[in-house]
Amino acid sequence: MVNRVAATIGRNGMSMSSAADNLRQTQALIHRAETDWDRPIGSTALIVVSKMFPAEAIVPVLEAGHRIFGENYVQETREKWPALRERHADAELHMIGPLQSNKARDAVMLFDVIQTLDRESLARELAKEMEKLGKRPRLFVQVNTGEEPQKGGVLPDALDAFIARLRQDYGFAIEGLMCIPPADQPPSPHFAFLRKLAQRNGVGGLSMGMSADFEAAIRLGATHVRVGSAIFGARA
Ligand SMILES: *Cc1c(COP(=O)(O)O)cnc(C)c1O
Repeated sequence: MVNRVAATIGRNGMSMSSAADNLRQTQALIHRAETDWDRPIGSTALIVVSKMFPAEAIVPVLEAGHRIFGENYVQETREKWPALRERHADAELHMIGPLQSNKARDAVMLFDVIQTLDRESLARELAKEMEKLGKRPRLFVQVNTGEEPQKGGVLPDALDAFIARLRQDYGFAIEGLMCIPPADQPPSPHFAFLRKLAQRNGVGGLSMGMSADFEAAIRLGATHVRVGSAIFGARA
């Protein structure tokens, strides 16, 4: 994983420049991938992943006009984002990290999109808090396409029944599927698999692709790419 990220940064020459420069360069690469792979221009949303970077690092990206961000930790988001949002109320925050059920309330309050819904107990807590708070974040289901025991996400075999239950029992509209391919495998087969699972379930969104592989994900139909280190540099 670390090596793949480093290789991408080297290839794009991104690590030396500012986050705002890297943002522009990443946007250009997304545009080029959309063109090369005959995807509709502008059909890929760039989620800038700001986990483990402080507010001061995020401000230049906001000031460059970018609005869509991803965070992995509820606590960190609660510490960083309320102040940032005072000046940029239209920022759109995506939860992309594992979510404990006991953090459901904070997650509903803080996030516009939750991408890591992967189990019934979490769905129940989210539904309860959405009802109480009168706020409904958009939802993606995370799929553990590599069936890795340490990773979140519903197993592929259980996905269809899970989505059916989310729709029937909770009235959730599922906007997309999300995956994180195993670090030691080529990602493209996982991206193609996720697309197949989405099509089979009538789900339109595909959140896949990170710094090292977002172009491959765009080729395979990503609607959302999640890019951190290519914009902010390596995380500590
Ligand atoms: C950290 C993270 C990213 C961003 O990874 P980079 O390699 O830094 O682009 C994307 N998605 C998820 C789920 C992450 O946890």
